[in-house]
Amino acid sequence: MDAEFWLERWREGRTHFHQQEVMPLLCKHWPALQVPAGARVLVPLCGKSLDMPWLASQGFGVLGVEISPLAVEQFFAEHGLQPAVRDSDQGRHYVAGDIEIICGDIFELNAQTLAGCRGVYDRAALIALPADMRPAYVDHVYGQLPEGCAGLLITLDYPREQMQGPPFSVPDDEVQTLFASRTSASVLERRDILPDEEKFLRAGVQRLDTVVYRLATGR
Ligand code: SAH
Repeated sequence: MDAEFWLERWREGRTHFHQQEVMPLLCKHWPALQVPAGARVLVPLCGKSLDMPWLASQGFGVLGVEISPLAVEQFFAEHGLQPAVRDSDQGRHYVAGDIEIICGDIFELNAQTLAGCRGVYDRAALIALPADMRPAYVDHVYGQLPEGCAGLLITLDYPREQMQGPPFSVPDDEVQTLFASRTSASVLERRDILPDEEKFLRAGVQRLDTVVYRLATGR
């Protein structure tokens, strides 16, 4: 799953993953994390998610990272924002108020930038990546977030043989293996969402759960 795959999805408007409302599971579980007010929250593989303005509205600084320039430009245009733009070796930075999105590859994000984040919100990010990329992603991102960083991870869990991702099924045993070295991942909620997911029903998937984890670095 290379960058071109995603750039093409955005060019063709095949962005089924984008939700027209703020993720209810974010609103429900974020406050309990007690991320300090004003802290910077990393949103890896952010797309043009409405969860970013929600986080900003709760008093956080948002740092999104997204590889598709179309997604980033649509985000700011759809919110009527005119970002300041500058380039660095991490990509093109778009900044408007409390929201910054770096248009670039998550693997180019450097240690200093990651060390400046105190919160993280991973929805449709880990599960957007194929199995062979997930360990490197978790090492790169979660391995460099500072100690005491808290966040939410939202996954899908379905029988792998019943549908081709993305989004991929990342069951709990894989989550625990991926995060074992440094970050604790504890289940906050598991919810059956199959009845609401047309695409999965059509594909003949027989079980589909979304799982919300509380992440804490520095264990
Ligand atoms: N989290 C968002 C988008 C999920 S889809 C949401 O909830 O709506 C995954 C997104 O990751 C896509 O927008 C894709 O363009 C982006 N992406 C994929 N690989 C990436 C990479 N290596 N670096 C940064 N962004 C990437």
